[in-house]
Amino acid sequence: MTDTSRLFDVLIVGSGLAGLSAALHLAPTHRVAVLTKRSLADGSSGWAQGGIAAVLGEGDSFAAHVDDTLVAGAGLCDPVATRFVVEHAPESIAWLQQLGVPFSQEDGHLHLTREGGHSARRIAHVTDATGAAVQRTLIERVRQTPNITLLENHTLVDLITDRKLGRAHDGRDRCLGLYALDEATDQVLTFRAPHTLLATGGAGKVYLYTTNPDTATGDGIAAAWRAGCRVANMEFIQFHPTCLYHQHAKSFLISEAVRGEGGRLLLPDGTRFMPQHDARAELAPRDVVARAIDFEMKKHGLDCVYLDISHQPLAFIQEHFPNIYARCLELGIDIAKQPIPVVPAAHYTCGGVLTDLAGHTDLPGLYAVGETTCTGLHGANRLASNSLVECMVFARAAAQDILQTPRDTPPALPGWDESRVTDSDEAVVISHNWDELRRFMWDYVGIVRTNKRLERAAHRIALLQGEIQEFYAQFHVTRDLLELRNLVQVADLIVRSAQARHESRGLHFSRDYPGLLPQALNTVLTPARAASARSETSPFHPFPVP
Ligand SMILES: Cc1cc2nc3c(=O)[nH]c(=O)nc-3n(C[C@H](O)[C@H](O)[C@H](O)COP(=O)(O)OP(=O)(O)OC[C@H]3O[C@@H](n4cnc5c(N)ncnc54)[C@H](O)[C@@H]3O)c2cc1C
Repeated sequence: MTDTSRLFDVLIVGSGLAGLSAALHLAPTHRVAVLTKRSLADGSSGWAQGGIAAVLGEGDSFAAHVDDTLVAGAGLCDPVATRFVVEHAPESIAWLQQLGVPFSQEDGHLHLTREGGHSARRIAHVTDATGAAVQRTLIERVRQTPNITLLENHTLVDLITDRKLGRAHDGRDRCLGLYALDEATDQVLTFRAPHTLLATGGAGKVYLYTTNPDTATGDGIAAAWRAGCRVANMEFIQFHPTCLYHQHAKSFLISEAVRGEGGRLLLPDGTRFMPQHDARAELAPRDVVARAIDFEMKKHGLDCVYLDISHQPLAFIQEHFPNIYARCLELGIDIAKQPIPVVPAAHYTCGGVLTDLAGHTDLPGLYAVGETTCTGLHGANRLASNSLVECMVFARAAAQDILQTPRDTPPALPGWDESRVTDSDEAVVISHNWDELRRFMWDYVGIVRTNKRLERAAHRIALLQGEIQEFYAQFHVTRDLLELRNLVQVADLIVRSAQARHESRGLHFSRDYPGLLPQALNTVLTPARAASARSETSPFHPFPVP
């Protein structure tokens, strides 16, 4: 066998906050490759607006941040992981400051905002574009770091493991590297390293409406699952209640502050509906508002509802919502005169690849960090601004663990075999299946679920899986095909997890099980070595370090 693989100390898949933070921590001593499927800046991290939660203000405490997180998580946060993140959050902000992130200041101190669910001002931010500023700074740094090789337009195809190569003797398996599609040459390349770290972000694109960028197709979750790792709590998808509904406005958020400043939610005939759903009306929590909008849309067969702030004077709107006002006006909607069409949209994937405090997955040699993971921090519902900090805390922890682990060079690896595939002339199958999947996930596995809807979705997923597998086996891989394959895999994990939960908790709401069970259990899916998988609900406990 000729080994044409590229050898590194660490392979990092994903160039968001999780991936780039890990790369910078490792680079002083390790040769790191960062593979990313589009450009370095693409991903959710650059889109984060609000900020990063950390205990930095007077009168605030770690205990209060932990409590707020546990309350949001509805009984499913792992207290140890929560404390770990909260206690390391301030040093993460300090690290970003050292790198040069220009956090907003007031009187010589960090300016901290307060967000829903937080009992104190603790959100460090860079005006209303925190993610973009952080991402810009990290990209500048990694570009200047000689030990980091940046590989844009490289899409992870699959992880390479002993088991997949038929070399897992005594049942001992480990990650040896990965295959990635290089779009410049249209070739699948082989990468080899003793350590691989998945930082591929969330899976919002599995739904028709999402605030997430196009990169959020759950690739890391699907790849880790295929490689034998457990995945947890996939039923908990956070929906943002108000995303602009317009054919040319992909994923534009209408901030919750619009409701905070008196915005009213209306049906197309102008009827206000929130007071019938909750005494707090438009000021009810995010998930309550999202559920009410979903109910009204399904009841009346609507494509969207409307958010009306036009009773406020133009000057007030321009001062409080300059970006929203300008963006809507560009699209022909004058929000000072007319209501804004909105839909709820998938915003955050709380579940993911199960990891411990050092970012280990079940597979030796494979780490995972960021939105792609389930660390135990978010439980059944994520507290606002807790996700960017989770990326940084676990990126550092995983890097420290790698730095302390001996570098065993993996054995030679076979190249990608394309001898039995041809070019497809049926790209339409892929785009059709993409659309179909995202629509039925929205309709059947969205904000309000029922047993019947989940069954319908499961049936369709099984059909799609068969079709896509056939396609994957016969034709050259493309990024669209790889993403679709992963999305269908993730959809399957979401549906199975939702079916396993016989209660309504946090972000998971079932009309068939509206109550709460007395014991809070996590949903942990375990891949079977054979075709089918077992699902179970079990108490969360970090699994032993491999
Ligand atoms: C609109 C919006 C606003 C938000 N606001 C906040 C906020 O204010 N505060 C907060 O804490 N959180 C916020 N979040 C959530 C937060 O931004 C994300 O959870 C976080 O950025 C995830 O970082 P990550 O590094 O895990 O993933 P990402 O930043 O999404 O990066 C994933 C990377 O993986 C790459 N990738 C994916 N698949 C592959 C593949 N197969 N091969 C190669 N590369 C791949 C992507 O291209 C990308 O580079 C917001 C999210 C959105 C969408």
